Amino acid sequence: MSIKIALAGNPNSGKTTLFNALTGSNQFVGNWPGVTVEKKEGRLKGHKETGIIDLPGIYSLSPYSLEEVIARNYLLDEKPAAIINVIDGTNLERNLFLTTQLLELGIPVVAAVNMMDEVKRAGDTIDLAKLSAALGCPAVAISALKGTGLTELTDLICGSLMAGTPKIAFSSPIETAIAETGAALAVPAEQRRFYAIKLLEQDKKIAEKLAFDSIPPKVTAVISRLEKEGGEDLESRFTEERYDAIGKITASCRKQGRRGAESKSDKIDRIVTNRALALPIFAAVIFLVYFISVTTVGTWVTDWTNDGLFGDGFHLFGIGTAEYEAALETAAEAMGGAAEGVVEAVEIDPSEFGIWVPGIPAALGGLLEAAGTADWLSGLILDGIVAGVGAVIGFVPQMLVLFILLAIIESCGYMARIAFILDRIFRRFGLSGKSFIPMLVGTGCGVPGVMATRTIENQTDRRLSVMITTFMPCGAKLPVIAMISGAIFGGAWWVAPSTYFIGIASVIISGIILKKTKPFTGDISPFVMELPAYRVPGVVNVLRAMWERGWSFIKKAGSIILLSAVIIWFLSSFGITEEGFGMVEDMNDGLLAGIGNAIAFIFAPLGFGTWDATVATITGLIAKENVVGTMGVLYGFAEVSEEGEEIWQSFASHFTTLSGFAFLLFNLYCPPCFAAIGAIKREMNNTKWTLFAVAYQLVWGYVLALIVFQLGSLFGGGGFNAGTVAGLAALALIAWLLVRKPGGAAALKTAAVKEAA
Ligand code: GDP
Ligand code: MG
Repeated sequence: MSIKIALAGNPNSGKTTLFNALTGSNQFVGNWPGVTVEKKEGRLKGHKETGIIDLPGIYSLSPYSLEEVIARNYLLDEKPAAIINVIDGTNLERNLFLTTQLLELGIPVVAAVNMMDEVKRAGDTIDLAKLSAALGCPAVAISALKGTGLTELTDLICGSLMAGTPKIAFSSPIETAIAETGAALAVPAEQRRFYAIKLLEQDKKIAEKLAFDSIPPKVTAVISRLEKEGGEDLESRFTEERYDAIGKITASCRKQGRRGAESKSDKIDRIVTNRALALPIFAAVIFLVYFISVTTVGTWVTDWTNDGLFGDGFHLFGIGTAEYEAALETAAEAMGGAAEGVVEAVEIDPSEFGIWVPGIPAALGGLLEAAGTADWLSGLILDGIVAGVGAVIGFVPQMLVLFILLAIIESCGYMARIAFILDRIFRRFGLSGKSFIPMLVGTGCGVPGVMATRTIENQTDRRLSVMITTFMPCGAKLPVIAMISGAIFGGAWWVAPSTYFIGIASVIISGIILKKTKPFTGDISPFVMELPAYRVPGVVNVLRAMWERGWSFIKKAGSIILLSAVIIWFLSSFGITEEGFGMVEDMNDGLLAGIGNAIAFIFAPLGFGTWDATVATITGLIAKENVVGTMGVLYGFAEVSEEGEEIWQSFASHFTTLSGFAFLLFNLYCPPCFAAIGAIKREMNNTKWTLFAVAYQLVWGYVLALIVFQLGSLFGGGGFNAGTVAGLAALALIAWLLVRKPGGAAALKTAAVKEAA
């Protein structure tokens, strides 16, 4: 790529949508600020030599958060050939604030006024020629979503662009100071204005970049002189003068249509973010999402995949299904019993009715037998690969349903409201609502969730969020939830949604406990997040989001899960027999059982101290779907005979309701998978903190499962024993950590500040 063009603009102004439209790529688009926290690169369609870079959203070039630093450093250090400034046309004032600063960088800027479809719908008009003249850079009207104005934009950026002299001038004493300060700086002439302004605004990071220890005394002298003359803080004066200029620009180039009426978004928000209704609505939405994806629609698709595709087989397009069932019924009646139970004893060939497609295990088994494959090889393929990978793949449709629902919530604008609603609650417990954004992202996958903490400015809050974000059930945990909910709770409606709420509770409780410890005390950073307008989700965007997330699971199933399944199969099928090392008859004699048994004692107090549950838990650290994959290999998903539920029965026979629930709790709320732990390490950028985070998660998962299992056993009529004591002690400890006074001097300071306020 010889030429690089950067997309810069406010969060949620449509940069990624434009990026996708210009490059034909498939980056994630969400209707809320903070979706893109890293820069992404692509090539301009039809102009292969031109690279387009999608930067994280920024409000100004005075960065507060990490993503803003990333964007600013890119513009300063990589000096792209041009900047496309994506401007949300429905919110000109705020967006132009960044534009005025971008124009100072000495890089050619094209103002792309986006969302013109919405501007038009509101009855407004924007005079692009006037805007262009006032800014001193080309301006085009576009709609990234509808694809209008893109050719014009492409022509502009491929033409010869020049950095003009910024048209936005400050008052003359300030302009003099900028010229004076800039002249003394060792930077390229076109960047002088930018650096001078930032130094005058006392931007420490810019001073560092220029290799000064702090703001040079000469500059501070100028600042104090100007502040004395103006009687006002210089940084605010810069901001004010910028907004004055913007006010003049918008007054000249925009005509507003009918106004005054409450917008549709405001009307919806009056209900949705209403003090009394907000929480019940939120709970209902989350309940619906999980209920639909795990219990209803999800189960239908998953049943089909598990019973049909990875089970016996199915009638193509349902042709013959009814006749087949009727035949079974008649046969059962003829045998004199109720249909149920007897049906299984009736030998009726389903392929005589319509087009019968055998399931993968049956078809593959037949092929392998016909080819005379060795026992161990067909064992590896059927009991290892098909059973393990199939068990996981069987849940993919369910995950896709979850991802569609999440994408809809995201793109319609409700996700941003959730952060806003929960901020009110979180704040009471000393957490910022901003910490909740990573958790919302984490509901899809923990890795981007942990990365989304970059929007949090405060280092302490950011660390805390990195530690607790992965308590939210991610997509990969969904199969585990669905398996336990189906096998042990008979698909009860409350199991899946409750895992989400237990996740939130884990976050809040952990937040309170950790906030009281020394490293985390401090004030809560203010939560400023604008609420985007509600939009009807775009079908393409929703499907794209679903596919992006779903595809990564399918890839995982074909790689990590496959490898794990093979290893689990090998370790469970081989062992030391009387004739030496070889295949064992009974898995309980295999190597895996030996390894599992050696460490199973750790989980005994949680009720699932068996070697198979232990092994499943450990493989879950590699990837959470592995819990299901491992169970698939160990309990033989491929050997399902008549009904898919038999897998569940054999699974259920290894657990009681209580131990199954404890198993679920530990697996959901213990440390996440390796990939997410890797993300934690990257974001913490510190080994000690990473270890602390993982240790905390381990203890949390353990304690949660311990309390539930031990107290559950006690109330369920089990005796009072050492385990009960441990459970009660753990409960008491959590209660104490929750109510105790914060420790350390920092806490006293916080209290003093609060009192003063
Ligand atoms: P980014 O944060 O700047 O990358 O913004 P995104 O590309 O993620 O878009 C934010 C939201 O605005 C999404 O819901 C988009 O569908 C929507 N959007 C983007 N461009 C347009 C547009 O031209 N018209 C309308 N109506 N919506 C748009
Ligand atoms: Mg984006």
